[in-house]
Amino acid sequence: MNAIDEKLQPILSTVLHRNAGEPEFHQAAREVLESLGRVITRNPEYSDEALIERICEPERQIIFRVPWIDDKDQVQINRGFRVQFNSALGPYKGGIRFHPSVNVGIIKFLGFEQTFKNALTGMPIGGGKGGSDFDPKGKSDREIMRFCQSFMIELHRHIGEYVDVPAGDIGVGAREIGYMFGMYKRLNNRFEAGVLTGKGLAYGGSRARKEATGFGTAFFVRSMLAQQGKDMEGMRCIVSGSGNVAIYAMEKVLSFGGKIVACSDSAGYVVDEDGIDLDLVKQIKEGKRGRISEYVELRGGKAHYVAGGQIWDVPCDIALPCATQNELNGSDAKTLVENGVIAVAEGANMPCTPEAVHLFQQAKVLFAPGKAANAGGVATSALEMQQNASRDSWTFAKTESKLEEIMTNIHAACHETADEYGAPGDYVLGANIAGFVRVADAMRAMGVI
Ligand code: GLU
Repeated sequence: MNAIDEKLQPILSTVLHRNAGEPEFHQAAREVLESLGRVITRNPEYSDEALIERICEPERQIIFRVPWIDDKDQVQINRGFRVQFNSALGPYKGGIRFHPSVNVGIIKFLGFEQTFKNALTGMPIGGGKGGSDFDPKGKSDREIMRFCQSFMIELHRHIGEYVDVPAGDIGVGAREIGYMFGMYKRLNNRFEAGVLTGKGLAYGGSRARKEATGFGTAFFVRSMLAQQGKDMEGMRCIVSGSGNVAIYAMEKVLSFGGKIVACSDSAGYVVDEDGIDLDLVKQIKEGKRGRISEYVELRGGKAHYVAGGQIWDVPCDIALPCATQNELNGSDAKTLVENGVIAVAEGANMPCTPEAVHLFQQAKVLFAPGKAANAGGVATSALEMQQNASRDSWTFAKTESKLEEIMTNIHAACHETADEYGAPGDYVLGANIAGFVRVADAMRAMGVI
């Protein structure tokens, strides 16, 4: 753990006190506060503790009951959340996560991260996050639909094109967004395309949105390597997770000449020394929502599967954690460093523990924090909002090239800010300070609200 400036210590204490029992939120807030010491010493205009405390306190937190009826005609109850964290830069913006681990602390940490991430994109979007402890695993399509509809029956009164614009996250993809959009449209009797992003192409979605987070992560890694005069050609890469982020990070890494040697899902990982066959992974994950263990048989036995286990044991040059928070700990980081990893980029939100991040930085491994490296998803959501507002629909190439430009700019902002504050190569510090400054400037201009 790094030291926190003594002026910021009381803010951390307040965060810990107000949000007791929410370790993920504490972890995210501590990391940002660790970075801000340098800003407040150098720029007196930012050394306003009350402003920083306001940034750490969500503007609004909504918790609601989500009753729904399963296929056996039983009533089920889940809990729904929406944390509207910060609207200084635009309407609250951030995904909805359906996963049994969801609780208010996890949604708060995600909303907090989202605020800085969205600021880094340079787009007019504030930060928010939502979700439910609903477990989509094993549910029928009808159950998913009934759950999404019930979730929206409450959520609809809190969101809107100019208010709060949710999207997907873990467990929420185009199918779920479709069911939620349908219910929102019915409840409001208006086709408000810009109220949700990640929509299907048929009704106002954006091309390249599905690919955007993963592509963005790969663009960011390319920029970090380029900074050191390197490229991805022939580099061994491992990617955890089996959602859109992982799949499309792999696709872009492959197009840059990298070789994917291992990938995973929550049950285990596969190693394929000939290079992972991405079409097969897509068939398993996107086609039939199956398990990654099926890969070995479909590949004719040419790969091997490790049940449970840690994908981080596989030697690689580039590691992309794209599954979930705290999936890569200190001992995993140690193994990666010993095996010679040169770059790690967080495709997921906060997948590396603070100890892991510290070890990577000490070992001079290029390390990209999620709020920079996975910002491509939400940036493309903002592009979807632009298309909706102008009733337009762009080509894949146009959307992707805007995404590429945004990611290049985020990399430059993080890199330059780290240099400016005397910590060259520290992308964590660069991202936190660059994101903070943008939010803080807007809040300062608006007075105490
Ligand atoms: N859930 C994604 C994230 O963590 C995307 C959010 C969005 O598109 O609004 O950034």
